[in-house]
Order: sequence, then C-alpha cells, then structure tokens
Amino acid sequence: LDPDVLASESRVVVDFIADYYRDIEQLPVRSQVEPGYLSKRLPDSAPYLPQSIDAILEDIREDIIPGLTHWQSPNFYAYFQANASTAGFLGEMLCSGLNVVGFNWISSPAATELEGIVMDWMGKMLKLPSSFLFSGGQGGGGVLHGSTCEAVVCTLAAARDRALSKIGADGITKLVVYASDQTHFTVQKASKLIGIPPSNFRAIPTTAASGYALTPDSVRSTMEADIATGLVPLYLCATVGTTAVGAVDPLLELGKVAKEYGVWYHIDAAYAGSSGICPEFRHYFDGVELAHSISMNPHKWFLTNMDCCCLWLRSPSALVDSLSTCPEILRNKASDAKIVVDYKDWQIALSRRFRAMKLWVVIRRYGVAKLMEHIRSDVAMAKHFERLVAMDQRFEVVVPRRFSLVCFRLKPRFEGDDASVLNRRLLEQVNSSGRAFMTHAVVGGMFMIRFAVGTTLTEMRHVEATWKLIQSKADEIIVEGPR
Ligand code: PLP
Repeated sequence: LDPDVLASESRVVVDFIADYYRDIEQLPVRSQVEPGYLSKRLPDSAPYLPQSIDAILEDIREDIIPGLTHWQSPNFYAYFQANASTAGFLGEMLCSGLNVVGFNWISSPAATELEGIVMDWMGKMLKLPSSFLFSGGQGGGGVLHGSTCEAVVCTLAAARDRALSKIGADGITKLVVYASDQTHFTVQKASKLIGIPPSNFRAIPTTAASGYALTPDSVRSTMEADIATGLVPLYLCATVGTTAVGAVDPLLELGKVAKEYGVWYHIDAAYAGSSGICPEFRHYFDGVELAHSISMNPHKWFLTNMDCCCLWLRSPSALVDSLSTCPEILRNKASDAKIVVDYKDWQIALSRRFRAMKLWVVIRRYGVAKLMEHIRSDVAMAKHFERLVAMDQRFEVVVPRRFSLVCFRLKPRFEGDDASVLNRRLLEQVNSSGRAFMTHAVVGGMFMIRFAVGTTLTEMRHVEATWKLIQSKADEIIVEGPR
C-alpha cells in the first residue's frame, strides 16, 4: 500500500463517484439488462498482470453501471430506501481506510469504545429508556450489526438458551416464535437458523381493521392454544413500520402480553426506527421499555451508507452467555478482568467492521437538527404524493400512511373487476420506462403499489413528475383495457 498511490487513485475514484451522482437522474432507475448479460462482456478469467484504475473504471462505466438498479436515483421509490449521504460515504471511507478489526477491546480499543458511545448517543436520540444504554448503569447496552437478520438471530439464540436452561436441551422442539403475517421474513429465517422447528413459527394473521397491526388478543389466544398442546412460547417480535405497508404494532399492549407469558420481546424498527428522533413520531415507540431488545437500520433511513444495524438490549449478558467463546489465542488482561466489552460475543462472526466510525461521522456532520429535517422532508413528500393520489378519482390510498411510504392502487372500475391485473400492468409500465422504480405488496389479498420516499436526492419536483408519469401510464392502460 503506497500512500501516494492511495491518495492519487482515491481522488480518481471519488471523482468517478461524484460524476455518477451528477448524472444519476439520466440513468434508467431499474436496470434494463437481461440475466447473464455480464458474462458476455467480461473476460472469463482473472488478469495475470496488474491493470490500471483508469481501465477498471472504464469497464465499470461501460459494463457495470448499465447492470445497476440505481438505488440512489431521486426516482427510486422501491422496497425501502438505502439512503446514502456525503457523511455516510466519508464515514465508510474512514472505516474502510483504517480497516481495523475490533473483535475484542484490545484488538482496537477506540473501535469498541466509540461503538459504546455512539450506541448511547443513538439511544438517547431515540429516547430509549436508560436501561438500554451503557450509561444507564443497569447492565444494558448496544451493538452494531450489519443487518436486522443478524440482530434477530442473535437475540433469538439468547432467548432460546435462556429457555433451554430452564426446560432442558430436549425442549427445543417445544419452543414457539410469534410474529405477524406482516413481520419481515427475516424473523422466520432466523427462527429456522437457531433450530426452532418450522412448524413452531406463528405468523399471526392481521386485518385491515387493525391497520395490519398485531392485536394483543390474537397473540394471547395463539399462545394459549400452544400452551394447551404442551408447547412453550419463546419470542415475540413486534414491528414499528412493517415492510409491506408501514404498519405499527401496539408495543405497550404487546409488551404486557410478552411479560405475562414470560417470552423474549423484540422490536424490529428496521425502517421506521429513524423517525423516532422526531418528537412527533416518538409515540409509536411507547412501550419500548417492556422490550428485551430493539433494532433499527441506520442504513435505511438515517443517511448512513450500507451497512449498519443498531441493536440495543436491556441484558446483553444474555447474548454474551449464548454467543461467547474464549479461545486462548484471543486471551488478554482486559478481557480476563471482565472490565471491557468484547463485541465478538455480541454477534455471529468474529471479525467486525468499524461501523461506529461511520455512524459517528453521520451524526456529527449533520447533527440531530439536520437528521430530523431529513426525516420530516421525506414524510412531507410522501404526504404530498398521498394528496395527489387522493385527488385523482381513479386511484385510492389503500392503507393509512404513517411514515414516508404510500400504498395505493388504481381502483376496480366495476363490480367484480380484478384490479390487480390493471395495477400490475401500471407498475410494470412505469418501471420499464426507466423513469421511476416502485415495487408492490399483496396484503389482505389486495395488490398494491408501494411508493417509498427516502432517497437522499429526491425532491418534491421528482415526486410530482413521477405522479404525472403514473397518471399518463394509467391513461394509456385504461384506454387499452386489461390484457
Ligand atoms: N425488518 C423490516 C421491517 C424491514 O423492512 C427489513 C428490510 O427491509 C428487514 C427487517 C430486513 O433487514 P436486513 O436486510 O437488515 O436484515
């Protein structure tokens, strides 16, 4: 590694990325390539001799960029955003540039200590109870993972081991995990991964009447039915901001049920967690004090480039009991004295990135004020889109909007009309135009189009132009009629 080459080539790459952002609006949002396109363009074996960064960037421009779906395009409204920012990029550059591996305290004390500080900062911004913070002095604390999936696997493993210590290792076939039919599939996957029989995962049905939120009664009756057959409730996952429609489960009421049945209570706020820094959204988190753990992804809506998931626990010791290993090769005075956090025991892998650096840079560079402004501006754009939809008689908003996601569709045109055919066509026409990209959900049997605002470059003018595009595609397909 030659620092001079690092400096000069980094500049070239940064300029390349800056140009990418300058031109991004002109690129088709959803990639238009066919499967297998890249192997037709790239050599089938590695170069023997070194190649220049200029040659590599040229190939990226010609061959890779066309095969990208541009997540940072201002006209990207699909899935949930993974928003990037200048500070997120700079933080990532520092994380990657320093490239330390802070698996235990001694392997890079600042990496561990900064993570503790930044997790407390974030926890305070979200007004989490002090029991989740290191500074709360009650044994709580937080850790950065790469994804919600990892956070859920780890908390489930802790819950499983706590339960098995009471009922014996054979009891694993009796343990049951509870979520809703709107809970992200990551919980079902995690449940399988930690050895819960697939038949012991309960996706409790939700309805439009509850806004697709879990009801405490449905959870209680499902747990009662399981207990009656000799099963043991283990873990309940509630969501703030579900993936399909942005629904919010009633945290306080569900927390009381979790407590009554002695289950581990986790809150998944992967997307909407970021909104909790704004006082007007904080009420969605009332009841968090009853949770054992809560996670949210700054890499979705908090201007923090991929990847970054915050997980807080009231009793991280449960996690450590489940995940810790103590190989001789890693032994050191500080760990032996148990006076430090060794984050290797709070996660799946041994090695870990210096993600705290990235989140710290984002928070410092923007401050709480700018971060709140960013959330509010996305919500304002979503509200505006919602109003535009409501003004066109042919369309309807199908689920109440809570954050920056609007779920809408073309209404059925006559009794018995299967509006899903029309809406699928509308969505495909918009996406294949390359001018915007949205995705869909099917909830309660209804096909709906999701318009998720959150890309950093999106402005009101983009939202308005996309709405005009949607209307013009609707004009075309309504004239043509469904196929
Ligand atoms: N939970 C919710 C509510 C989500 O919306 C998502 C992804 O969109 C996830 C979990 C999965 O997150 P990850 O990819 O970090 O595992």
